[in-house]
Amino acid sequence: MNVAEIFETMDYGPAPESPTPALAWIKERQPFGLFINGQWVKPASGQYLDSINPSTGKPLAQVASASSADVDAAVAAARSAFETWGKTPGHVRARYMYAIARHIQKHSRLLAVLESLDNGKPIRETRDIDIPLVARHFYYHAGWAQLMASELPGYEPVGVVGQIIPWNFPLLMLAWKIAPALAMGNTVVLKPARYTPLTALKFAEIMQEVDLPPGVVNILTGEASQVGEALVRHPDVNKIAFTGSTDVGRNLRRATAGSGKKLSLELGGKSPFIVFDDADLDSVVEGVVDAIWFNQGQVCCAGSRLLVQEDVAERLIDKLRARMEKLRIGDPLDKAVDIGAIVSSAQLKEIQRLVAQGVDEGAVMWQPSWACPTEGYFFPPTLFTNVSPATTIAQVEIFGPVLVSMTFRTPAEAVALANNTRYGLAASVWSENINLALDVAPKLKAGTVWVNCTNLFDASSGFGGYRESGFGREGGKEGLYEYVRPVWETAPRATARVAPTIHEWDVQPSMVGAGLAQETSLHEDEDTRDHAKTFESSNGYGLVLPAIDRTPKMFINGKQVRPDSGYSRDVYDPTGHVIGQVGEGNRKDIRNAVEAAHAASGWASVTTHSRAQILYYIAENLSVREGEFARRIVQQTGRSQEDAIAEVQAAISRLFSYAAWADKFEGVVHRPPLRGVVLAMKEAIGVIGMACPEEYPLLGFVSLVAPAIAMGNTVVVIPSQQSPLSATDCYQVLETSDLPGGVVNIVTGDRDTLSQVLADHDDVEAMWYFGSAEGCKRVELASAGNMKRTWVNYSHPRNWLDPVQGEGEEFLHEATQVKNIWVPYGE
Ligand code: NAD
Repeated sequence: MNVAEIFETMDYGPAPESPTPALAWIKERQPFGLFINGQWVKPASGQYLDSINPSTGKPLAQVASASSADVDAAVAAARSAFETWGKTPGHVRARYMYAIARHIQKHSRLLAVLESLDNGKPIRETRDIDIPLVARHFYYHAGWAQLMASELPGYEPVGVVGQIIPWNFPLLMLAWKIAPALAMGNTVVLKPARYTPLTALKFAEIMQEVDLPPGVVNILTGEASQVGEALVRHPDVNKIAFTGSTDVGRNLRRATAGSGKKLSLELGGKSPFIVFDDADLDSVVEGVVDAIWFNQGQVCCAGSRLLVQEDVAERLIDKLRARMEKLRIGDPLDKAVDIGAIVSSAQLKEIQRLVAQGVDEGAVMWQPSWACPTEGYFFPPTLFTNVSPATTIAQVEIFGPVLVSMTFRTPAEAVALANNTRYGLAASVWSENINLALDVAPKLKAGTVWVNCTNLFDASSGFGGYRESGFGREGGKEGLYEYVRPVWETAPRATARVAPTIHEWDVQPSMVGAGLAQETSLHEDEDTRDHAKTFESSNGYGLVLPAIDRTPKMFINGKQVRPDSGYSRDVYDPTGHVIGQVGEGNRKDIRNAVEAAHAASGWASVTTHSRAQILYYIAENLSVREGEFARRIVQQTGRSQEDAIAEVQAAISRLFSYAAWADKFEGVVHRPPLRGVVLAMKEAIGVIGMACPEEYPLLGFVSLVAPAIAMGNTVVVIPSQQSPLSATDCYQVLETSDLPGGVVNIVTGDRDTLSQVLADHDDVEAMWYFGSAEGCKRVELASAGNMKRTWVNYSHPRNWLDPVQGEGEEFLHEATQVKNIWVPYGE
């Protein structure tokens, strides 16, 4: 072809990147060993696996296949390294992490080529996106290592972390996992994906280059069934951080239930790409290319559902087809290639299967006229129209270059369609009307929302899911909490402990809150066990009247309702006297309460000022009845009057704390390296089910309910089983404090039976449980159904009177999830 012909056709010539240095690097080292305790070691099994080049289908390298014996060795090395690394000053850790970032940049081309060879993704992406983001992640977290002591006081590292990552962004996912873990002082055993181990092995070499202390980072290649499972079940691992599919994530939730291991899950998605009719359609077309054909569509947050406003749908689809015709597929090392190879033949078959199913289900499939390379695993960009929202291809994560499109008429319909999925990872909104885009963004159930852009990432802006896309965040300050625990939690979380009795806690006046004078006194002659007794009263006519019966019911939707079962349960004082009855709640009561809590979801949109006012008002109304509430505590628990008064006053102080936080625990604005801002909004989680601790019947109840509702959640609460009357006495306080019906719902009864129903319920978004070790396990197991967030105490006691343990950031963090809204600006 001569220059004139090229000018005529405007065809790209090949622009190949040489694989020679990367292939030489592989040849010198293979078969690769395991990286344990700073050394390369042979796998205990003596077995090796092939890593395949997906663009040729041929073996690229031989890597070790680790087994549980290697996992034991790596965990032991990480544990021993933790003894020192966990205490290493932040500045020292920051220096190592800075060095890691620098070395990644020094080896950037080798890493980019290795990644393209191993994964099949175009070099344009590995060179310009993956590797720069990896370096940025280590720089950013070097900063958090430096600042940990001042910015996260009261927190310490979790310990040894097991990390499991997928194949779609091999080195980037490694960076998202290892950088925050090391910054916070943890040590790591990481398992790369079976298909893509090579850049992790180069990373291990970098650990040697920077002289990272042995055992701080250990890397084990191998099969999920060998390494992955052994890591997840290992008793000396304190946390599992997982990125991968929702099905495996669900298994890990079940496998770790009750073990006390901290868990973060970054799972799959089916993200909407919403186009309003005033959007710039040419920009939209380029956006779609980046949304679904970036990395062959093997992106957890791929914009795989195109939702277009009806009046521009035809025009957009025409433009899109024209653009698809021009996409270039082929050798991932060609710098002018847009679409590379699918990672494996198994993944290719899965894409082919789902596409065939889409055709069978009646959707219209369109692919460009050109043909894919015949060698290697390639699949053309594919567009489905005439898709109905309930079909498989509209609901299931295809994880390939396949876009399904649907239309809508109104913004409300767009939101409904967008949220019509079990996932909640990301969304893009395209409109030239920023008011509309920013109105829609908070309504989308997604951890990241991109306005007029897509697939942008930065270490400063946390990433993670809502709903079945998992829980936990990576990046941003919020991501750090996944790798720390409160200092006061001294024992390993999995070790069950017996709660000290209330008198063993060192109750000091300072714990009760800002110097509250204990003015309330209970009259010595007052009978604190009078409730169930008939007590005599003279009405002036010489008649002796029995006390009027007060039977607390359930509190659902702002109303006191009878238990569905028609049964009541006795409440006893410590000496075994019946002091009252409460309703025996059942499945139906819980379901009604959850329905009421959902119906009250407008509470999340009430201004933070109003929510604060209502919390103050609850505190005010509680304080009016301070003596009565203290007497109730004495009556139920047999504790001293002073203790009881301290508890009521602490509850009032706590309500004040969360009234204060309601309009102060706010989001932040990030400034990632782009022209624009990222609004990190702290949003309510939704409906939270909660089982209150046995001890502190009033304070335990208030300590859980107040932060949850301050942040805009609605709650279904199971009060202390032994001493539920403090919570049921709150009905009247809540009723007279302007709290809308359904925001707080209370169901009394058997804690574990009711908790099970809540944890099983698919419309409950989070579950907090403070009870037995067995109960904690059951809650975590059941939560895997809809991947609800859980917060359980593994039967560890907490001193609810102590503000450090009983209130503050940890509670607010549990009551919120962060949504990052990306808003680029400029013409
Ligand atoms: P996968 O779930 O099959 O595997 C992920 C990792 O888990 C691999 O290392 C695998 O070997 C390991 N694994 C599999 N079964 C295991 C088990 N029983 N115990 C322990 N480890 C096990 O996922 P994949 O196919 O590698 O990756 C694609 C999935 O990852 C997609 O669903 C995608 O959406 C998701 N993903 C999510 C994010 C995110 O940030 N949310 C990012 C990238 C990918």
